Amino acid sequence: MIKEIKGLHHVTSMAADAQENNGFFTDTLGLRRVKKTVNFDAPEVYHLYYGDEIGSPGSVMTYFPFGRMPRGRRGTGEVGVTEFAVPKGALSYWKDRLRARGVADLSEGRFLGEARLGFSGPDGDSFALVETAARGRTPWTGAGVPEEAGIIGFHGARMRLRDAAATAELLGFMGYQKDESDGSVTRYRIEGGNAADTVDLEETPDAGPAAQGAGSVHHIAFAVEDRAAQDRVRKALMDTGYQVTPVIDRDYFWAIYFRTPGGVLFEIATNEPGFDRDEDTAHLGQALKLPSRYEPYRDQIERILPEIAA
Ligand code: ZN
Repeated sequence: MIKEIKGLHHVTSMAADAQENNGFFTDTLGLRRVKKTVNFDAPEVYHLYYGDEIGSPGSVMTYFPFGRMPRGRRGTGEVGVTEFAVPKGALSYWKDRLRARGVADLSEGRFLGEARLGFSGPDGDSFALVETAARGRTPWTGAGVPEEAGIIGFHGARMRLRDAAATAELLGFMGYQKDESDGSVTRYRIEGGNAADTVDLEETPDAGPAAQGAGSVHHIAFAVEDRAAQDRVRKALMDTGYQVTPVIDRDYFWAIYFRTPGGVLFEIATNEPGFDRDEDTAHLGQALKLPSRYEPYRDQIERILPEIAA
């Protein structure tokens, strides 16, 4: 078992319209856009990052808005629900706010003793707000969201799998411990992490496979402290038989990727260097940042990218 994983780092999904995506996360959910850059493999597409004040690992929801992209189909082999944590007592505020803004598929419930409010994003993305203790995290209170209700980062994520056994074994290897179950869902939790520390595995043997599109999670990233820890994790995964990519510089973290037995793409991302690497904390997310290899093409890239509000 490895001990380097510290919880979630970020979740990356796909969207259709960039402006709509930006508005939903900054205005409706009140998160901070902490980086406006491009997809490093497709610079004609934005990569937008939303999170807390500094984009703390465990708070960062990221998107590739591809423009005219068909919606994905929910099913097995994907992250089915991305869960944000909010302070205890905050859900009545969110229910009113999301309803007033016409957010779709609001559903209240409790799961494993926690109050939660499910809702859909602009592309049919599945989200939930879960009431939980703050545990040292501070909400970003954008767009008039009061401090006592603000999103404090991720709570966790729920994966839908045809057969959960191999993914459960992998999570165990990554340092997660089996927690409670309810019906077809079993919770796994990591100790000593960044508070974005749960992964729920939902086994749905009769559901069809997911098809990726707008509103689908592209991959889920787990946090490690630094590159040395990442190297140890990479070696341990490869020794166990996983095919892991080389280390890739994503400017704000270093990344490795591997496909998991249930079909979900996992990433291991470093907490270093962080989003203030190329702009100061007060102005995070405002200017278009490009990796150095695309800087010579800035004019062309800026002409292609759609306008989005500051
Ligand atoms: Zn990623």
